[in-house]
Formats: sequence, structure tokens, C-alpha cells
Amino acid sequence: MNSVQFIQNLELPINLVYIVAALLFVFGLKMLSSATTARKGNMISALGMALAVVVTLFDKDILINAHTGELIFSGYKWIALGAIIGGLIGLIAAKTVKMTAMPEMVGLFNGSGGLASLLLAWAEFQRSLYNTEVFQAAPLGGFEASVIAIAVLIGGVTFSGSVIAWGKLSETMPSQAIVFPGQNIVNAILLIAAVVGGVMFAMNPVAGAYGIFIAIVIISLILGILAVISIGGGDMPVVISLLNSYSGLAACAAGFVILNNVLIVAGALVGASGLILTNIMCKAMNRSLANVLFSGFGATTAGAGKQVEGEVKPISPEDTYLLLEAASSVAFVPGYGLAVAQAQHVVRELGDLLEKNGAEVYYAIHPVAGRMPGHMNVLLAEANVPYEQLVEMDDINPKIENIDVCMVIGANDVVNPAAREDETSPLWGMPIIDVDKARTTIVLKRSMRTGFAGVQNPLFFKPNTRMLFGDAKESISALVAEFKD
Ligand code: NDP
Repeated sequence: MNSVQFIQNLELPINLVYIVAALLFVFGLKMLSSATTARKGNMISALGMALAVVVTLFDKDILINAHTGELIFSGYKWIALGAIIGGLIGLIAAKTVKMTAMPEMVGLFNGSGGLASLLLAWAEFQRSLYNTEVFQAAPLGGFEASVIAIAVLIGGVTFSGSVIAWGKLSETMPSQAIVFPGQNIVNAILLIAAVVGGVMFAMNPVAGAYGIFIAIVIISLILGILAVISIGGGDMPVVISLLNSYSGLAACAAGFVILNNVLIVAGALVGASGLILTNIMCKAMNRSLANVLFSGFGATTAGAGKQVEGEVKPISPEDTYLLLEAASSVAFVPGYGLAVAQAQHVVRELGDLLEKNGAEVYYAIHPVAGRMPGHMNVLLAEANVPYEQLVEMDDINPKIENIDVCMVIGANDVVNPAAREDETSPLWGMPIIDVDKARTTIVLKRSMRTGFAGVQNPLFFKPNTRMLFGDAKESISALVAEFKD
């Protein structure tokens, strides 16, 4: 058997390794669902990807010239160049990015995935045109052309949408929802135009269809921009999760374009898991995906809900110390303000002091506290808060009435009792941490300003609530100092 035949016979073993890689992806993903196994899960998935990449290097499409049947190695130099440049960018980004900037980095990665699928589909179309012209090969089939159009459309939307999402999250561009009359209709028309263009292209994917092809590319890019500018910065994590799902679908379509099984499977896994995460986030906010995508939330909801009446009772750090000193159970309920103040380390310090003082300490985590899934977990893990002290919303709520002091640190919407009490509130129905039922609740924030949803919080006016005004890090540091004195 000569080397060309040997390479041709590798198709079956390569596909068997792809199955192993796919299994590793699935097990890795499963392990990501628990904090204790997540690191291992990540490694296992990475191992699956490494296996897939290595065996793909033996693919006959890379090593054998389709027209002359000769063995070629020239493809490797481009692969090496791409791997070095991409690997370096990934390495530098992973080493330098701050934990709090993770959502926008994930956004950019999704965008790169979308762009890669678009370019792959484009290259495949270009290759077919070249083969037809130079070797009189048959033009693309209808199926291939359809998946090319799908990969371009989804890939283009993912790329430009992700760049906008990155801009909004990193505040490189204004983060408010930019809405104009008839926006959804314009988007619908563009989508229909892209689909019609895709059908026309698939019916006759020859050189004459190049104009239509470019039109699909341009429309998909515009569609991605328009779809995301109308969504407020606070909703970007949901959008990023959805775009993550799109990037998977684009990769899946790209997998069909080049008939690569592992790309199809990996793309489908990313598509499905992104959609599941999007759904979890929407449920935790009690909002539909349509509401996130089309309502311009944040730009339109400010001021809604019943007017809140009552008295706000401020408290000093000294008096807060006295309460904490006497408490036998304390629950910290962190929110977005914890991330803004970067107070996680001092909170951990205070938690340790309280434990030493004999109190039971909990960190109660709401699923959408902060601005990305797992935001609070990431911050608290950075401060080495033990996993056992993290308690989920559904576990803390049943025992909250017996907690002496709830310390609400920069959280607002996720502890807003209007979600339970006021049917006219935009937060109505959203599951919350019931801190208003604790014996005493201390809210740490800088002012009476609203949270992300732009609605007043009746918690601040409840008889058992005290407001400790100021930057969360400064307030907690003052409490730590009191304990140390
Ligand atoms: P909120 O945005 O509701 O409230 C944060 C509060 O932190 C503000 O009221 C602010 O008050 C306070 N704050 C800001 N900076 C500081 C500081 N330096 N020190 C002390 N306090 C500070 O946050 P939550 O975490 O309660 O709720 C998250 C919201 O984000 C929800 O509405 C959720 O639906 C939404 N969301 C969450 C996503 C996720 O994945 N986690 C995704 C998309 C949306 P003040 O200015 O007075 O200090």
C-alpha cells in the first residue's frame, strides 16, 4: 500500500476518533454543571478537541491533491500559521483578561466562531467556482449550496452581533438600547431578504450568483448589528449566551459544508447548550426570550410599578457592627454592586470574623445576580469563599425567617419584594431571595438609585430594613475594622 492509499484508508479510524472526541465533549460538559468537577470537565473537553484537531491533520482533503491524486504537505503551512496566530491571541487573552471582563471575552470568541464559519462557507463556494472554471467540475449541489447559505447567514449575524455585544459590555459604545420606530419590521424584512437570497443562491450556485452571495453576507452582518443594538447593555449576557448558541449552529452548518462529523457534533452541542443556558437565564428573570430580544428592556421600563411609601432608616457602620456582633446567623446576599465595588475579598474577611465570633455564615446566590451567569460564584471563588458556604436561592429561602441578619451587598432587583407583592411591577413573578423575611436586613448601596430593571425597591422601606449607605467595599472594610478593634 502506498502512502496515498494509506491516507485514503484513514477515513474510518479518523471517524472513530471523532466519536471518542464527541463523547469527551459530552462528559466534559456534564462535569461543568458542578463547581467541584468543572475544572476537570474543562480539561476533558479540551482533550477531546485536541484529539479531534490532531486526527483531522491526517484528513485526505488536506494531504491529497483532489485533481492529481498526489500527496501534498503545502496545506500544513497555513494550518500552522493559523494555529500559531490563534493560539497566541487565545493565550494572551486568557492570561490578561480580568475575571469581570469574562462576558465580553466570551462574546468576542463567539463572534470569531461565527466569522470562521462564514469564511469557511465562502472559501468552499470560491473553491467550487475555481474547480468549475479550471477543471470543468460540476457546480455545487443544492444541499451544499443551502448549507453554505445557512452558515453564512448565521455566521454573519453571530459575528456582527457579538462585536456589538462586546462593545456594549465593555462600554466601548453606549450600552443603552437603541430603538427606533419600525425596528422589528426592518429586521423582519432583512431576514426575509436573506432567506430569499439564500434560496436563490441554493438553486443556482454558479459564478453569476456571486452578487446574491455577497448580498447575503452584507445583510447578515447588518442584521446582527440591528438585532443587538436594540437590546440594553444589562441584557447582553443573555444575548451572548444566545449568540453562543448561534455560533454553534453556524459551526454545525459549516460541518455539513465540508462534511466533517466532529464539527457537526461539536456545533450541535454548542448550539443546544447555549440555548439551554439562555432559557435558564430568561426563567430566572421571569422574562421570555422574545421580551429580552424585542422589548428594549431597561430603556422602556424605568419608573413602572407602584409608588413605594414609607420611611428609609439609615444605619451607621458602628450600629451595624453591634447587630452583627450579636447575630448567631448571617447571610450575605451579593449582587451587581459587589462586582462594581470589588468587595469580594473584604466580604470574605468579614465572613471569617463572623464565623470566629460563633455565627453561622451563608452566601446566598441568586441565579441572575450580577451581569452574567455565575457572576457571584466567580467573584466569591476569586476570594476563596468555600463552596460549602454558597447557598442557592431555593435553599436559603425556606430558612431565611430564622436568619438574624441578611447583608444585601450591592443587590437590588434580585431582592425586590415587588416581584411577589406588586402585579404591576416589571419584576412581577421573578423569583427573588426573600431577604425582607429575615429578622433584620442591612442593605449596602451608595444611594436610593434603582437597579438594572429601573424600578423602586419596597425592601428599602420595610420596618426591619436598615440602609448602610456608601461604597460596599468601604462599608465592609469599616465593619472589619470595628471587629478587629
Ligand atoms: P442590580 O443591578 O439590580 O442592582 C445593583 C445595585 O448595586 C444598584 O442598585 C446599585 O445601587 C448598587 N451598587 C452599584 N455600585 C455599588 C457600589 N460600589 N457599592 C455598593 N452598591 C453599589 O443588581 P442585582 O445583582 O440585584 O440584579 C441583577 C439584575 O441584572 C437583574 O435585574 C437581572 O435580571 C439582570 N441581569 C442579570 C444577568 C445575569 O446573568 N446575572 C443577565 C442580564 C440581566 P447604587 O447605585 O445606589 O449604589
